[in-house]
Amino acid sequence: MFKLILLDSFKKHNQNKLFGQTRWRLAIWYAGIMGAVLVLCGLGIYQALTYAHRLTITQELESVANNFHETLEPFLEQPGKFTPAAKKILPNLCLIGTGCSQVTEEEQKTSFQSREYYIRLLNPTGNLVAVAGRQPKNILLNETRGYWQHFIDANSHHYQQVSIMLHTEDFQIWGYLQVGRGLPEYELYIRNLQWIFLIGLPTMIILLIIMSWWLAGRAMQPIYQSYQLLQQFTADAAHELRTPLAAIRATVESSLMMSTITQTEARETLQTIGRQNLRLSNLVADLLMLCRMDRQLSIVSSAEIIKEQVSIANLFQDVAEDFTSLAMKSKIKLVTQILVFKPLIITGSYEQLYRLVSNLVANALKYTPTGGQVKLILAHRAKYALLHIQDTGIGIAQEDLNKIFTRFYRVNSDRSRHTGGSGLGLSIAQAIAQAHHGTIKVESQLNQGSTFTIFLPINDSEVRS
Ligand code: ADP
Repeated sequence: MFKLILLDSFKKHNQNKLFGQTRWRLAIWYAGIMGAVLVLCGLGIYQALTYAHRLTITQELESVANNFHETLEPFLEQPGKFTPAAKKILPNLCLIGTGCSQVTEEEQKTSFQSREYYIRLLNPTGNLVAVAGRQPKNILLNETRGYWQHFIDANSHHYQQVSIMLHTEDFQIWGYLQVGRGLPEYELYIRNLQWIFLIGLPTMIILLIIMSWWLAGRAMQPIYQSYQLLQQFTADAAHELRTPLAAIRATVESSLMMSTITQTEARETLQTIGRQNLRLSNLVADLLMLCRMDRQLSIVSSAEIIKEQVSIANLFQDVAEDFTSLAMKSKIKLVTQILVFKPLIITGSYEQLYRLVSNLVANALKYTPTGGQVKLILAHRAKYALLHIQDTGIGIAQEDLNKIFTRFYRVNSDRSRHTGGSGLGLSIAQAIAQAHHGTIKVESQLNQGSTFTIFLPINDSEVRS
């Protein structure tokens, strides 16, 4: 016994470990995939936002540079040389080599913060000819390749510059005009964005891991439940099979222990074995039936579903007739009432539907004491055939009503075993009803009786007529 409990708890621990590991694995996959999508989206959004922000700055810079370009070009005569008129357009223009004042660190900082423009003029070979405005220090700005240039100075300040080619009046290349400015607002924007992503992304990833763990748990729940049900079912089935097998073994062993055996004793032994064998066969048949029904319910258009046109009225009468002798033997009054004048055709299997009704009638007779009454009523409501099986038997307690359809469940094991039941009859009945798109409802009062009602949808042609 102790060994069995130990084995059981070891098995449970292993199962829990297995489900725990699977849950973690699922959560990691969820979090990994969603995290990667999140990071990619974040990067995309970051790029799009920074691009959109820089676009407004570059457009503004471009229009300033175009203005200078249009005003300056008509006054340019010789490549790389200034005319006095050109100098007048840019009064603070400082020619290189004429001692332009050097910009101090402080001045450069102020000019960067106030987004001042600087202008640079280069000859066709790319050498600086003149400048205007405070120039950023310590960066090589003479780059003339490409229209746009982006620089970062030693203090990590960003500058944006546009280079436009200048022509003389006679269409010779004069040189290049470069207009640029510092991007303090862009830097601030980028810094803010980076902070948002730096704090937001890890927070989101942590939330994602928690959510994934929860989601994985929810996804595992039905699997875990059905796994437990399956285990319960296997344990119950093994338990049910063990009882007749043990009885057979005990009978055989006690017979073998006798030195001689009379014919009567041998007959009794064989009868016991026969009885237990019948019980085993019935149980196996019931289990097979349940497996078949499960398959039938899980496969929508199974070839195994026999599609016959079954008249419920005829079937009802067949069952009533077949149980008359059993009712008489048990001294129970069996009353049949048919309240319909139509055959009530449904598409399904006669054999299965017969099993459904007979299981309920057999139960009614089984759980009704001598002198009681079992009433079978067939009625029709809307698109359903209604089969009521009423008895004046022992009834079922309210707390057991929703459990009686569970496989192997018996309200009182000893009593049911005594009546020969295995606790599968109602499960089979319910599975058959569901396979025919119907249901079973039960009402019961302890010590007063029970009423089981089967609802089966009848064919459309029957509903209209
Ligand atoms: P069994 O083979 O034990 O009868 P069932 O699945 O048919 O198994 O029924 C499950 C349990 O429901 C029974 O053990 C019994 O206690 C209870 N039950 C079923 N039908 C009736 C009824 N008509 N009256 C009282 N109890 C019933």
